[in-house]
Amino acid sequence: MLTVEKLEIRYGEVEAVRRVDLAIARNQIVALVGANGAGKSSTLGAIAGLIPAVAGKVVLDGQDITGMAAELIARKGMALVPEGRRIFPALTVADNLRLGGAMHLPAQEAKQRQEEMLDLFPVLRRYLRVKGGNLSGGEQQMLAIARALMSKPKLLLLDEPSLGLAPQMIDVVFDLIADLRRTGLTVLLVEQNVALALEIADHATVLANGEIVLSGTARELADSDLVRQAYLGA
Ligand code: ATP
Repeated sequence: MLTVEKLEIRYGEVEAVRRVDLAIARNQIVALVGANGAGKSSTLGAIAGLIPAVAGKVVLDGQDITGMAAELIARKGMALVPEGRRIFPALTVADNLRLGGAMHLPAQEAKQRQEEMLDLFPVLRRYLRVKGGNLSGGEQQMLAIARALMSKPKLLLLDEPSLGLAPQMIDVVFDLIADLRRTGLTVLLVEQNVALALEIADHATVLANGEIVLSGTARELADSDLVRQAYLGA
């Protein structure tokens, strides 16, 4: 569904991402893991059209989307949940969801989609009239995911969904991500929490200092000495 070839990203003198290749098949969860500053968010940003790449190619369902505006890429079926969630704290849960669908769906369809989201995330139904900023971190993460799903994307990009959540909430959110794949969604998951990511991913790629150091099935990575020693504390 998505391929990334030889992606390069620079911030002035900083070479943030070098020669990164990725391949994501439909209905898979692919994890992009690595430490702080490894280049994960930059890679996601370039795929979503938010950060310009200096070289490389991004292809979605056979179409070259390299350099395309983020808005156009979103219309092609890609949605990003950014690091830190970025919900609208002063707006209600209902309005946050409405805004997620506003640009992409006719009113009636958006309403129906909102119902689907509330079935998928029942906690949000309970807080429909509550301001987003008053939800817990985990609830806000669910709202951010539900808002992204309002546009009915085929590919969901998730940037550090575990960040800042209580351990119990992390499990809830990751179970939900695994469930989403069962609904036919394809997911590219960026995570610093490597153990967690490998639990739900089919394939994973490890980035360090902007470059790929290892790529394989989640099982292969979980069993590799490099991952065990550098990321799993073995
Ligand atoms: P994190 O989890 O901290 O976001 P990451 O793996 O997502 O880490 P990136 O945020 O992509 O890594 O950062 C990769 C490199 O690019 C880092 O060295 C970072 O300092 C640098 N960088 C990121 N954004 C910018 C920017 N806007 N200007 C300059 N340098 C940047």
